[in-house]
Amino acid sequence: MYGLADPYQVGSNVFGTTSLKYATTFLRGESLTGKGDTRIPSEKIVAHELAHIFLNTFKEKPVEQLTDQWLADYHKRHPELASNNH
Ligand SMILES: [Zn+2]
Repeated sequence: MYGLADPYQVGSNVFGTTSLKYATTFLRGESLTGKGDTRIPSEKIVAHELAHIFLNTFKEKPVEQLTDQWLADYHKRHPELASNNH
């Protein structure tokens, strides 16, 4: 789950969530378009939920480490696409 508050509170502070049991991920669409809530860059939301799936874990620490690694590698290869807010 990627959010800024209580992870069990489904609302404006939850940007994405993944159920490993049901192989399903939900993403807050307005945060992916750049037109709505943009507190978290869209690529970070997607990478974070993908890391949950890739590592098959709910543990946030390894997920955040892999997310940061993926985004650093991506921005190294595509510096023109790097956001300034992460
Ligand atoms: Zn998470």
